[in-house]
Amino acid sequence: MESSIAGRRDLHFVLIPWLGTSHTIPMIDIGRLLAERGGVTVTIVMTPANAAQLKPTIDHIATSGLPIRFVFLPFPSVEVGLPEGCESMDSLPAFDMMPNLYDGSKLLRQPLEELLREQALAPSCIICGAYYPWTPAVARELGIPCFVFHGFGSFALFCMHNLYRYRPHERASSPTEPFLLPGLPFQFEIARQQLPVHFQLLPHFMEMCNEVREGELAMDGVLVNSFDDLEPGYAERLAAASGKKVCTIGPVSLCYRSGRLDMADRGKKLSVDASRCLDWLDSMKPRSVIYVSFGSLGSLASEQLMELGYGLLASNRPFIWAINGVEAVEEWMQEKLEKGGVDPKFLLILGWAPQVMILSHPAVGGFLTHCGWNSTLESASAGVPMATWPLFAEQFLNQKLIVDAVGIGVAVGVKTSMRRPEQAAEEGSAVKREVIAEVVERLMDGREEGEERRRRAKEFAAKASKTVATGGSSYDNMTRLIQLVATQRSRR
Ligand code: UDP
Repeated sequence: MESSIAGRRDLHFVLIPWLGTSHTIPMIDIGRLLAERGGVTVTIVMTPANAAQLKPTIDHIATSGLPIRFVFLPFPSVEVGLPEGCESMDSLPAFDMMPNLYDGSKLLRQPLEELLREQALAPSCIICGAYYPWTPAVARELGIPCFVFHGFGSFALFCMHNLYRYRPHERASSPTEPFLLPGLPFQFEIARQQLPVHFQLLPHFMEMCNEVREGELAMDGVLVNSFDDLEPGYAERLAAASGKKVCTIGPVSLCYRSGRLDMADRGKKLSVDASRCLDWLDSMKPRSVIYVSFGSLGSLASEQLMELGYGLLASNRPFIWAINGVEAVEEWMQEKLEKGGVDPKFLLILGWAPQVMILSHPAVGGFLTHCGWNSTLESASAGVPMATWPLFAEQFLNQKLIVDAVGIGVAVGVKTSMRRPEQAAEEGSAVKREVIAEVVERLMDGREEGEERRRRAKEFAAKASKTVATGGSSYDNMTRLIQLVATQRSRR
């Protein structure tokens, strides 16, 4: 398949990641994978504050020699009622301000159009985040295709397609009333409150969600960071139901193949010395460590964080815990754990952790995760089974896939979505330390059930590396995408 695109030069992909770290990181990986194929130049459009946050990644790319260029469009934070420098989901003062961020993103259209017209190398394709519903119109004016990258998996996207189509969430009498999610090969009960914001019927979000949906329908296709073995049949179902091209091209994090420290450059500036983290992991027994993280946005109420800390200690397993954002609790934990006279077999990372590097280490045997799609996929591609603690967005859908459909997870058992940190603070601690310790035990357990889960996870890891290698299905899907863009260009 490769030979048919070899020799073809100068395709130009323009990538416009949605304004959030966990959207931008895999988009940069996609840029990298595209640029690694001969004859493809990539431009990644970012805003200055987002670029500053991801400086390590951008610097890493700069040293790679790959034909990837970053361009920065100023973001009108203050104009749309956001604090100065607030340019992403990660820095929103409250989740309810997401529509302000969205309004700001609309103002990027004109400067982007000007930028695209000025390009020495004309754009051949746009790949953009889902919250840019105006990009298909821009692409059409340029006569090029436009693909959307939601950052979700095929299973979640297929569930969302069915929700849009059959609208069962609108018939539920309350946000917490469970209903059957239609169109699936198995029974799946969920409540509106556990769904992405598009289906929560929140008046404040309605206009944004409707526009985003219209934009999705106008896209030429969908890029999915996933691989078919992990979500068997769901990309095909989504393609058949939506009539769109669906290209599974992941796990894109596997583009960091060249070494352990190399992986540490993915994302924000680390809050731990990567070599120290590796030394710590190297000193642990194989599959003995549990890694705990709630992603780039997830936060729990203070009491819940403390309860989690006690639960982890009670599990009596070594752990790495990346804690995000709640400084007072972080300090409390640090002090409590250090003064607690416990066996210090833990590493607290107060801020950004080298997640892919950690998950890839043989000492890691389990991941307590909020089920963000990147984290889910990174865990599966490293062969690490998960304990699932979904918080918001499509994470309850991902939990269903991990725990029930493919059997590589144990559910902690949370029923309530934590949409905002403010809400988390109100909710207090819903999951008790005994439950946490018990779930960790089940996850790390060496008996039959645990071994079977581990065996499956390892199988997924082997399939993941196969799928992105030459001749694998994700590799070939990327080739097809490039060919499709090349064919469309030759017709112009
Ligand atoms: N991540 C990381 N270090 C951290 C926290 C997050 O490298 O300390 C990365 C993680 O590897 C993943 C992304 O940030 O690629 C989080 O994305 P995910 O979809 O899992 O969750 P979200 O942040 O969107 O809730």
